[in-house]
Amino acid sequence: MTLKTRTVRAPRGPQRTAKGWIQEAAKRMLLNNLDPDVAEKPEELIVYGGRGKAARSWEDVERIIAVLDRLENDETLLVQSGRAVGVFRTHELAPRVIIANSNLVPKWATWEVFDELERLGLIMFGQMTAGSWIYIGTQGILQGTYETFLAAAKKHFGGSLKGTITVTAGLGGMGGAQPLAVTLNEGVAIVVEVDPHRIQRRIETNYLDTWTDNLDEALRLAEAAKREGRPLSIGLLGNAAAVLPEMVRRDFIPDLVTDQTSAHDPLYGYVPLLNEGEDPDTLRQRDPEGYKQRALASMAQHCAAIVEMQKRGAIAFDYGNNLRAFAKEGGFEDAFAYPGFVPAFIRDQFCEGRGPFRWAALSGNPEDIYKTDRALLELFPEDEGLRRWLTHGVTKFKFQGLPARICWLGYGERDKAGLLFNEMVRRGDLEAPIVIGRDHLDAGSVASPYRETEAMRDGSDAIADWPLLNFALNAVSGAGWVSFHHGGGVGMGYSLHAGQVSVADGTDEAAWRLERVLTNDPGTGVMRHAHAGYEKAKAVARERGVDLCGWEQ
Ligand code: NAD
Repeated sequence: MTLKTRTVRAPRGPQRTAKGWIQEAAKRMLLNNLDPDVAEKPEELIVYGGRGKAARSWEDVERIIAVLDRLENDETLLVQSGRAVGVFRTHELAPRVIIANSNLVPKWATWEVFDELERLGLIMFGQMTAGSWIYIGTQGILQGTYETFLAAAKKHFGGSLKGTITVTAGLGGMGGAQPLAVTLNEGVAIVVEVDPHRIQRRIETNYLDTWTDNLDEALRLAEAAKREGRPLSIGLLGNAAAVLPEMVRRDFIPDLVTDQTSAHDPLYGYVPLLNEGEDPDTLRQRDPEGYKQRALASMAQHCAAIVEMQKRGAIAFDYGNNLRAFAKEGGFEDAFAYPGFVPAFIRDQFCEGRGPFRWAALSGNPEDIYKTDRALLELFPEDEGLRRWLTHGVTKFKFQGLPARICWLGYGERDKAGLLFNEMVRRGDLEAPIVIGRDHLDAGSVASPYRETEAMRDGSDAIADWPLLNFALNAVSGAGWVSFHHGGGVGMGYSLHAGQVSVADGTDEAAWRLERVLTNDPGTGVMRHAHAGYEKAKAVARERGVDLCGWEQ
């Protein structure tokens, strides 16, 4: 496929060219996803996560924007895998856009079928927030990554990572948050990355402190910082499938070990061990099947090193990229020896409907985000973690694209925050409307048996009715746009998940929509976990009034 290369950036400010703020917000967020400061490979429309795209082609971007500009306030645009395919008359409170990305009938839900359909130009991989136009750069995952490492610190290291070394890999769109999340928890991180440009980008945006291409130097720097209890993040240029086994051979065992390479995609994501002079792009083109087999074999070596580190005392966890499943396919039988991060550290929060709430300032003015930060601190004065994040954490990195923010909020909190932002827009405190969304990695919006729904108490890991209910409920509750995707995070065949985005433009209509969507969306998370038998979710339902047809009793 040949793509015409364009450089795009979202329009900023209080004037809109579309007929309503939802259409304008969808347009700005699509363009923001493709902003070179935001997207990992904007020339290929790749936003993050291997080949997670925002639209199928540049022609499709142009067509979507043109339709959004003419879309009436009682119409809905349908988007099929990154292509505008139809406009239908609905009503004022309906979503203005409904998106479906990468969905395949289960028996056909493999990378091989997907690749063939993509070659024919019929489908696009939307990852999670790439194809649903609410990616906000590496910050989008930073707080969740911070929370995950904090939970690991609480469970295993007395509440802080001070004096510990974490080894991980991958400095891409999501993985790039790892070094800063570790240093915010006062620890030391060595992050192996095969692509020097990714290392450079994380240094430039302050996510990574330093880098080297020498394992000895990385270990020396890490050990010194560990001894002194000093936070430090080190990018190590190399292939994780070579570096981690070499660490084991040298008897270097970190305190924590995980991975965030694009292991979910053995053809376009994970880079296998290469011989001198071999180029992954050429190799992939010439012999895709051979490339994939080599990637699987490399993942097996990589995963085996993690398991060996675990046997020798490291705390190991999978970080949601499906390395274990592909390592097993590559011949390493013991790949599932360590748990996924959700059952290990996050599920408790999902029981409260807590998850990644994010928002972006359509004005483009960072001041608007700082004002919302302060407003949230006043709204939730008792939340110590939120205070630490909004006063200390957020000073550590630069915005990418439209100024944006993320923080984890639960049932009964997100609606309050959304309505407050709407009031701020109404009062003129903010220069332009705020767009509010979330990752699909959330309490009630995913079925992903090797990630969000791994080891559910009632064994319901693979049941995908729940994200479909979430998707439909958000649509009828008045979300600005909704999306339903397949394969995000862990690859084809392994997940189904839904997204929603709403817009606070200061009107009564926006308040009506926000109150419902931001209550019901996390409410489905409480529902999902209560029905799976989690007592905490049942208690949350009882205490906060989520009606579960009596099952909460
Ligand atoms: P990305 O494609 O932007 O980055 C992946 C990085 O891994 C690239 O920089 C690539 O060069 C590097 N890499 C690939 N193979 C390597 C190897 N063998 N050794 C060292 N480096 C290697 O992807 P991303 O957005 O950072 O996402 C990373 C993974 O995490 C994906 O599988 C994604 O689906 C998953 N993910 C996890 C979460 C979460 O919360 N845990 C959320 C979203 C996505």
